[in-house]
Amino acid sequence: RAKSEGPGRSTIFDTSMHEQVRERIELEVALRQALAKNQLHVAYQPIVRLETGMPVGAEALVRWEHPERGSIPPMLFIPIAEDSGMISEIGTFVRNEALRQLGVWRSQGVVSESFYLSVNVSPRQLSEPELPLVFSGELFRYGVPAQCVALEMTESVMVDGSSVTARVLFELRQLGAKLLVDDFGTGFSALGYLRRFPVTGVKIDRSFVTGLGKNDQDDEIVRAVVAMSHALGLSVIAEGVETKLQREALYQVGVVNGQGWLWGKAVRAEEFAAVWHLGAAIPAIPLPVASVTD
Ligand code: C2E
Ligand code: MG
Ligand code: MG
Ligand code: MG
Repeated sequence: RAKSEGPGRSTIFDTSMHEQVRERIELEVALRQALAKNQLHVAYQPIVRLETGMPVGAEALVRWEHPERGSIPPMLFIPIAEDSGMISEIGTFVRNEALRQLGVWRSQGVVSESFYLSVNVSPRQLSEPELPLVFSGELFRYGVPAQCVALEMTESVMVDGSSVTARVLFELRQLGAKLLVDDFGTGFSALGYLRRFPVTGVKIDRSFVTGLGKNDQDDEIVRAVVAMSHALGLSVIAEGVETKLQREALYQVGVVNGQGWLWGKAVRAEEFAAVWHLGAAIPAIPLPVASVTD
């Protein structure tokens, strides 16, 4: 069948495949250099109480400013880092940078005692048996209590993970870190892992938040997620909250915490501290209580 479409067809296909492979290799080489040259940094996005707009924590997100190409999105380079093994080094960098920053903010009184930083950990990192010991050493070095750190992982980690991964998760939890399921609801997996693993909370994926207040099905899905999570003693954070309508709908179905552009994008540490320090005016207007109780 491909033949009948002419000889040029497969050539075009080969060329674009070739392009993709080259692009990938170029990115991998550039990423390796970026790591060596300290061209990665960490940005912080607030996680707030829906009711008050006050920050309870922040997610640490890696950023790559390429000198020529500009900012390269994590969606493009995290998978490459994961495949090539560089994710361990990137993860170590992000964790250390975030913990160091949290130690500074705590000692300067920029954040409250209970404020936590949430760090993404990839499946590959969680398959490394030494991670809990390394992590506990880092907590000690930066003077940060484990309860002030959340580790975010996708549900695939628990569904496909090995027995080593299971042990790593139990050890991390034993240290006192929060364990959050990222992009919750997108994995199409049976929910039994929520009971088998020491998870402390879920982050409802942005795709379910988008239609809130407009799409009854999304409202019902989120309502069910909240009911189940609370029954299991799990915390709930809604991801990707962009509008007041979404915030009100989330509040109405019992979600306590949210994260999204409505409150702020991920920004560098200095800007985060300037906008979000304790006692700063709350950038987003608190939820009008009257409008959610009727
Ligand atoms: P994630 O962990 O689910 O992070 C949330 C993503 O949603 C971030 O994208 C954030 O900037 C974006 N976001 C937040 N609020 C909104 C909103 O209101 N609307 C929209 N449209 N987007 C919003 P980002 O920073 O581009 O990161 C993408 C993904 O890359 C992350 O998804 C995470 O899976 C991965 N990633 C980022 N940093 C790291 C890291 O340090 N380590 C690892 N392993 N993965 C990371
Ligand atoms: Mg995350
Ligand atoms: Mg997420
Ligand atoms: Mg997500």
